[in-house]
Amino acid sequence: MAKVVIIGCGGVGTVVAHKCAQHPDVFSEIVIASRTRSKCEAVVETIGKPNVSADVVDADSVPQLVELFNRHKPQLVINVALPYQDLTIMDACLICGVNYLDTANYEPKDVAHFEYSWQWAYKQRFEEAGLTAILGCGFDPGVSGVFTAYAAKHHFSEMEYLDIVDCNAGDHGKAFATNFNPEINIREITQNGRYYQDGKWVTTGPLEIHKTLTYPNIGGRESYLLYHEELESLVKNFPSIKRARFWMTFGQEYLTHLRVIQDIGMARIDEIDYNGQKIVPLQFLKAVLPNPQDLGENYHGETSIGCRISGKDKEGKPLTYYIWNNCSHEAAYKETGMQAVSYTTGVPAMVGAMMFLTGKWVKPGVNNVEEFDPDPFLAELAKDGLPWNETFNQDLEV
Ligand code: NDP
Repeated sequence: MAKVVIIGCGGVGTVVAHKCAQHPDVFSEIVIASRTRSKCEAVVETIGKPNVSADVVDADSVPQLVELFNRHKPQLVINVALPYQDLTIMDACLICGVNYLDTANYEPKDVAHFEYSWQWAYKQRFEEAGLTAILGCGFDPGVSGVFTAYAAKHHFSEMEYLDIVDCNAGDHGKAFATNFNPEINIREITQNGRYYQDGKWVTTGPLEIHKTLTYPNIGGRESYLLYHEELESLVKNFPSIKRARFWMTFGQEYLTHLRVIQDIGMARIDEIDYNGQKIVPLQFLKAVLPNPQDLGENYHGETSIGCRISGKDKEGKPLTYYIWNNCSHEAAYKETGMQAVSYTTGVPAMVGAMMFLTGKWVKPGVNNVEEFDPDPFLAELAKDGLPWNETFNQDLEV
């Protein structure tokens, strides 16, 4: 029985609140807070349970966070605001003695740069305070790391090649929309690609490398190599990995829109002067694009995300292994009012929180998800709406 504070009430925060509320035996009290109280109140009203309430906080402000945490005294904060707020929330956790979980690594607002160094630098302070921080507990990062840990624990003596494959074969009927926060999403995919090979990072042009991969129950989809943050922790925690890559599918329409957005300067993240006012073009674009939370109603099709791994099995023989989840946009919407991209992020965040609160994932310090026991997490994930499958010694295509 524990109290949690959820910060962020977007697509992901809404799913986390719904899923936590389904487990009152673990989450006895749930507070959901962002800068806009009315949005949090609307989610509380939809859930309609007496142990769920709304509050307000600007998570860029450590004093406001400290005031919120001191008032509610939660055991754990689930951070599903934006990556910009990770460090202020971790600072407030240290001040107030609150454990921490998030789904995305810290990013500074003025430069799109993805690495764990800023958050890993908090390790000793969390250890000394006896507090657990769980980093990157969405789907990818998140389940992708747990799948890899599960493969290492049960099937491989040595993992050599890891490909994380992320397909969204859904159709929302809009000409262009992003599936999660547009600013964060566009910053991520317009960057150079990067993958790990033989101890070094190899940089590619943005979306330069692509190939058709076949996804279960979906078929062939063009898949593009991107840099994704979990690659950094996975190659550190599983040093036998010789090559680690991340692939994501995009449709031609999406890529054409993205190219135009970049060509006309709307993907810029630096401030420009507009009629005497400072604006960031990408933030302005976010304001006019469809809200990812509103995509769910007409969203059809499935997502499919998994890990394709090859190496040596426990007896030293060659093994190829694929572990994945498919999630239906319609089913996610029916249960939580949100589409599958928010659902596949919010469910693992709730399961990670449950793992901590039930004593299965308690480890003072700052930890990525693959540093914990994958078994209880994956058992719970399957019960909570994200069942997974595995195949052995099939052609991995990668
Ligand atoms: P949204 O933009 O829909 O929601 C973000 C929420 O954060 C809003 O409710 C916003 O509310 C709140 N917020 C923003 N700034 C602040 C602030 N300063 N203080 C308090 N609250 C704030 O994003 P999503 O729900 O789509 O994504 C949430 C997080 O999940 C992101 O960090 C994203 O990177 C991550 N993510 C992770 C994935 C994974 O698989 N690991 C996949 C998809 C997303 P308000 O404006 O009212 O403050």
